[in-house]
Amino acid sequence: MADKSSTKAEFKAEISRRVDEQRQTLIELSLNIHDNPELGFTEEKASGWLTSYLAENGFQIEKGIGGLPTAFKAAYGSSKPAIALLAEYDALPEIGHACGHNIIAASAAGAAVASKLIVDNFGGAVTVFGTPAEELFGGKVSMLQAGAFNGVDVAMIVHPGVRDTATNEALACIGLDVQFFGKAVHAAAYPEQGINALEAMILAFNAINSLRQHIKDRARIHGIITHGGEVANVVPAYSAASFFVRAQDNIYLDDLKQKVLKCFEGAALATGARLEYKWADIVYAPMKNNLVLAQLFAQNLESLGRTIAPFEPYFDFGSTDVGNVSQAIPAIHPSVAIVSPNVMLHSADFVLAAASESGHKGLLDAAKALAMTVADLLSEPEALARVKDEFFRQLH
Ligand SMILES: [Zn+2]
Ligand SMILES: [Zn+2]
Repeated sequence: MADKSSTKAEFKAEISRRVDEQRQTLIELSLNIHDNPELGFTEEKASGWLTSYLAENGFQIEKGIGGLPTAFKAAYGSSKPAIALLAEYDALPEIGHACGHNIIAASAAGAAVASKLIVDNFGGAVTVFGTPAEELFGGKVSMLQAGAFNGVDVAMIVHPGVRDTATNEALACIGLDVQFFGKAVHAAAYPEQGINALEAMILAFNAINSLRQHIKDRARIHGIITHGGEVANVVPAYSAASFFVRAQDNIYLDDLKQKVLKCFEGAALATGARLEYKWADIVYAPMKNNLVLAQLFAQNLESLGRTIAPFEPYFDFGSTDVGNVSQAIPAIHPSVAIVSPNVMLHSADFVLAAASESGHKGLLDAAKALAMTVADLLSEPEALARVKDEFFRQLH
């Protein structure tokens, strides 16, 4: 098939057939990544397997883009419009693929290969962007800063989850590392001469606990103490903590940063300990869902027998570097259910789900719905124009 007289429905049926044809290969790709978990910026195996698969299927590969060795770009077609499918493949420390990024990677690759049909018939380009280190270091932020996504018209990624959704709420987020420096003395013999760095940290935690009842809805402040002293009979001269501050938009994030900092400064003043702090270089931006694009994706996912769950704020709430992409390019970050809602992301049960039969089904459906949405965008200039129109209206 696949001449220009075919209807869009026929193209979509062919896409579905082509994804099914790759079923075994895609599942193997997903399981290989799953069984060899690699942390952010060390994903050599995953990016190697993905680029080999895409090269074998006629994609032009560029490795190490944006200055990140495990990032890549795999392009089919070179004309406009350019559709990006984002692949993530980093795992979490200790637990492995508890976020199911193996499914994200395989579905992006599978969708891209099935989309060749659309590029061959309607022109344009489909590119898989391999985006490392989503979990901790926001690889996409560095890639954006390096111009890796220049020229991209639309970006899409599907995350495995516990519900089928077309949109995803994600918060602006920044990390904060703090240290207090005090003075060590014998805790019983000369306590009056000590400066207690741990007490400074505890005061700061309590100040943040008090602050938390007066912050806006959907903002989050959470942290851990990473160093609290050496032995109980020495006044702790050093304490350290690591925090995340999150808000619904960048403006409130800036406000909240100042308030959080005051909590630490107040604790320094009260105890006499010296404060040192460092905000993370990478700031995760909030997700800007392109609703026209989300609607197209929703129709395609529902055509596969899934039902999009109604929007529920606070559900699967976190932050992602796709947020940064969505501020620069019209984007969606939907999710595809692979397990029941009583299983949580980043849990041991989710690791199992990401390699299960329903995980495989999620992978294939995600690949199909993504490629079908590519079909909508490349075969119908009007659809792409509506996506862009929404994006530019939101900018002003
Ligand atoms: Zn994830
Ligand atoms: Zn995650």
